Amino acid sequence: MAASGEAGRQWQEEVAAVVVVGSCMTDLVSLTPRLPKTGETIHGHKFFIGFGGKGANQCVQAARLGARTSMVCKVGKDSFGNDYIENLKQNDISTEFAYQTEDAATGTASIIVNKEGQNIIVIVAGANLLLNTKDLREATDVIRRAKVMICQLEVTPATSLEALTMAHSSGGPECIGVTKHVSQRTWAEEKKTKESSWVLWWIMKTLFNPAPATADLDSRFYTLSDVFCCNESEAEILTGLAVSSPADAGTAALVLLERGCQVVIITLGAEGCVMLSKTEPVPKFIPTEKVKAVDTTGAGDSFVGALAFYLAYYPNLSLEEMLKRSNFIAAVSVQTAGTQSSYPHKKDLPLDLF
Ligand code: ATP
Repeated sequence: MAASGEAGRQWQEEVAAVVVVGSCMTDLVSLTPRLPKTGETIHGHKFFIGFGGKGANQCVQAARLGARTSMVCKVGKDSFGNDYIENLKQNDISTEFAYQTEDAATGTASIIVNKEGQNIIVIVAGANLLLNTKDLREATDVIRRAKVMICQLEVTPATSLEALTMAHSSGGPECIGVTKHVSQRTWAEEKKTKESSWVLWWIMKTLFNPAPATADLDSRFYTLSDVFCCNESEAEILTGLAVSSPADAGTAALVLLERGCQVVIITLGAEGCVMLSKTEPVPKFIPTEKVKAVDTTGAGDSFVGALAFYLAYYPNLSLEEMLKRSNFIAAVSVQTAGTQSSYPHKKDLPLDLF
């Protein structure tokens, strides 16, 4: 089990506010003038190895903004795995539940990025697929005590479902609400209209990012998601609708909301994102900064990690404000090459984001 060491030991004493149950992938990145066609070999001008995997990416972004974080994951007992655990520690992430296995290699993602910053990616999930229910049970306390738990689909759906179930059913009396709320602003509005004796505060605890998406996603993923956050192509796969504008995204988000999530967010690359919620079921478009994108790989994970940070540490902000700030942070990430290496630290961001 767990890797020990400075950060690992330190975090055993404290409760993580953001827990990620998800993937770690070693990125093998080639920069090329353009993307190759089928069967074609082209020359790239640069190669580097980076740390990726949607789960770890999101965890690293949340940690760099100042969140106390813990990663529940599995890597191989190999050099990529050792390096990955060291990387988590370097980012001050608890590795208490970062498992290593001899039964599979550390997950890898082979990434090609062209000069426009577009990418194609092949993933071999390896050890990520061996993260199982028994591993989660060992991490029960950390999952239950977290303010926010994030899951994606780069570990097995059964593991993600189990983690979402554990997180969703956990929490103190403040989480046993009849009504779920996006923020204290909507809470205050609700309070005006309902008997406060039965409406209790509900923490937005589970943040699910259905990536990579499959059309036949188990219906429980929707009902277990307090916040369901996907990109345009994932929204298309999940709903069967074309999503190429904020208006399309609003339509798709309504379909997803009706499947049982509390909040749906669809990210729209350079445009920003669209949100809607059970309490405010009218799609709202939140535009983002115009920036020169160098490499958009992992922008979605930067966005999700930032959102988890705000949900955990700034629950008084409106969801719209959280998303404006998450947009900003993700826009910073696209201006530098690489995935985690492009994610900003708190000290490099404007003070008014905190
Ligand atoms: P990836 O798969 O590359 O991680 P994604 O497709 O999941 O990304 P996107 O919708 O492309 O996610 O981007 C997520 C967020 O990142 C957007 O909502 C936006 O805030 C920001 N973003 C992405 N691309 C740009 C861009 N070119 N300029 C500014 N912000 C961007």
